[in-house]
Amino acid sequence: ADDLQLKWDKAPCRFCGTGCGVMVAVKEGRVVATHGDMRAEVNRGLNCVKGYFLSKIMYGADRLTQPLMRMRGGRFAKDGNLLPVTWDQAFDTMAEHWKRVLREKGPEAIGMFGSGQWTIWEGYAASKLMRAGFRTNNLDPNARHCMASAATTFIRAFGMDEPMGCYDDFEHADAFVLWGSNMAEMHPILWTRVTDRRLSARHVRIHTLSTYEHRTTDFSDQAIIFKPGSDLAILNYIANHIVQSGAVKRDFVARHVNFRMANTDIGYGLRPDNPIEMRAQHAQDAGASSPADFDAYARQLADYTLDRAHELSGVPKSQLEGLARLYADPGTKVMSLWTMGFNQHVRGVWANQMVYNIHLLTGKIAEPGNSPFSLTGQPSACGTAREVGTFAHRLPADLVVTNPQHRKTAEGIWKLPEGLLPGEIGYHAVQQDRMLKDGKLNAYWIMCNNNLQTAPNTAHETYPGYRNPENLIVCSDAYPTVTAMAADIVLPAAMWVEKEGSYGNAERRTHFWHQLVEAPGEARSDLWQLMEFSKRFTTDEVWPADVLTRAPEYRGKTLFEVLFANGSANRFPSSDIEQGYDNFEAKQFGFYVQKGLFEEYASFGRGHGHDLAPFDAYHEARGLRWPVVDGKETRWRYREGHDPFVEVGTSVQFYGNADKRANIIGAPYEPPAEVPDDEFDLWLVTGRVLEHWHSGSMTLRVPELYSAFPGALLFMHPEDARQRGLRRGQEARIVSRRGEIRSRVEIRGRNRVPRGLVFVPFFDASQLINKVTLDATDPISKQTDYKKCAVKVLVA
Ligand code: SF4
Repeated sequence: ADDLQLKWDKAPCRFCGTGCGVMVAVKEGRVVATHGDMRAEVNRGLNCVKGYFLSKIMYGADRLTQPLMRMRGGRFAKDGNLLPVTWDQAFDTMAEHWKRVLREKGPEAIGMFGSGQWTIWEGYAASKLMRAGFRTNNLDPNARHCMASAATTFIRAFGMDEPMGCYDDFEHADAFVLWGSNMAEMHPILWTRVTDRRLSARHVRIHTLSTYEHRTTDFSDQAIIFKPGSDLAILNYIANHIVQSGAVKRDFVARHVNFRMANTDIGYGLRPDNPIEMRAQHAQDAGASSPADFDAYARQLADYTLDRAHELSGVPKSQLEGLARLYADPGTKVMSLWTMGFNQHVRGVWANQMVYNIHLLTGKIAEPGNSPFSLTGQPSACGTAREVGTFAHRLPADLVVTNPQHRKTAEGIWKLPEGLLPGEIGYHAVQQDRMLKDGKLNAYWIMCNNNLQTAPNTAHETYPGYRNPENLIVCSDAYPTVTAMAADIVLPAAMWVEKEGSYGNAERRTHFWHQLVEAPGEARSDLWQLMEFSKRFTTDEVWPADVLTRAPEYRGKTLFEVLFANGSANRFPSSDIEQGYDNFEAKQFGFYVQKGLFEEYASFGRGHGHDLAPFDAYHEARGLRWPVVDGKETRWRYREGHDPFVEVGTSVQFYGNADKRANIIGAPYEPPAEVPDDEFDLWLVTGRVLEHWHSGSMTLRVPELYSAFPGALLFMHPEDARQRGLRRGQEARIVSRRGEIRSRVEIRGRNRVPRGLVFVPFFDASQLINKVTLDATDPISKQTDYKKCAVKVLVA
């Protein structure tokens, strides 16, 4: 390396929620190579095919390097062409529109759509600017589409978000049950740990439940293919088997569990006039559940016999029984894993909960190898979207905007006047698109995501809002995605090691990196953009008069001054930055921005189970799993001997809830929102592929990854294709009630779908499958179901 004059440094991978560590080589101001970090516990030197090509993601030929604005005749015009402008021109136009919207419609007409790809301090800064600066909670991350159901269920069941276990569970489990998860493609490095365990311990078995066969089922001991949506019936059958066979761990349940029953008469989160929604029942409080006891729960489960589960799911009885026995056997340590199969589900919260129900009934939880484990899709879905609280209802460290005491805590830490923060839950992701279309949300900033490609039912519910003449749409991105190209102002973003960063992965691991290279041209980090924009507003322009009357010392100050240069966020000097590292934001603002924001943010959680280590510790370690107390990270939460917040002599304490007990919440099977019928006779499932990360905006610019999988395909059963007169490679139309796209038929290869179901990945912007998907959401978590809608396939 010395001969080549490479400078190596550590960073987490830019892509998935696995959170692999990589070593990054820099030469002459450019990233020239990466390899898996041997010192990283997560991946132990390995990377998947995406991780191996990290060095190329920043160097696509069409990288955005200067702000663009729609112009005609030298002025901003919504119907103009995107032309280069200065940062001042872009920000001044934005600020003028933001101020007009605030004057005429108030804070509820301003919104932001962020990301689990934001660094921790970027999400935190965005949350401060939106909630405290513009006084709106219309901030949501694209993690809403990814794991809102998982996050919601953690709170409902345990009173605190995120898994109790960690990746060490892979080396302790006797059996792995994958619920709708294709780990071999979506979490490849974690899959290597599963397969390593399977191959090194003869007794270990892998059971994968899915609606079609794929690379993960190929290596599984059992592939259990079920009808879409029937996972709820299978889970209830397993719980019923545990109860009926006397496998309930009675003492554990008596000491650590409460029982509740879910409210069942709730809708599908569609617009009220949608015929599907009109068929559904509505309740006043969709999230409600009522207290119950073991007997009531057992009675509800009694309907889920082996016969009924078989009938609803189509799974052979022998497979169902085998799975139930596995969970019931007290001698088998089980790790259950899931991601989008559960979360993108109109009953995603129930599905998540039902897995916890099984683990709680058997006491197989919060100890090495016994682990219900929710995987995440984005690199900082946990660290930024959830822990920082960039959801429309959340504040940092599991606080919520609707609780006056929580708002008061935030106002105290943020050194803001009491009563400033709004208490109404803001618009969630799908609602934001609808409000843009309806003209109720008029100033909108999209950061670090490709909403127009990934939102459901885009042609009807997303794109119209972008073209609504009342709306100003701003998009910050590194590449000209479909979202950026539909926006009115495009801001070039610095990415990955072009800025100092921090991510939180799926096992509560917080991981930092330094800025290693400069961003190209005028590209700037989202953090710089948020802070710089905040300088254009004074408190008198955006805060209500009564707040300023009570707190006159804030009058006439800029939002930058009160939010970012307020003695807390700016308390660390730039000289704190380690020698040998650059930091663009620190140079621009004159203080160590990231350290100040992180320490302020960390003060929300320290002392009550969300403890983060001091800032500098993260630049040393390959990530640390919170809670970190006295320099020690926590591998298993809620378990005595592992978690410092569990009292001695109690064995287990689910201390997120006031009585330190977890909730088992009973719920029934319910059919999906839309099911195939005579006209739209096939199920459509959408998803990802190994080579491309989400909407493909980075991976499609890596030549090797592009060549490996250049365009989306329509995976269908050979017999279904033949019946429709389609051959392999032929173009077909995929049509739903909402729209249609064209794709080429694939009847072989990695995804082998059963009859009656087709699969189309969403990475390809030239085949926008989300024009076809249904915008039904889980009524509790508001997460979209991208896994189940009805389509027909026709010869093009
Ligand atoms: Fe990156 Fe995920 Fe691959 Fe690891 S598994 S190298 S985090 S994309």
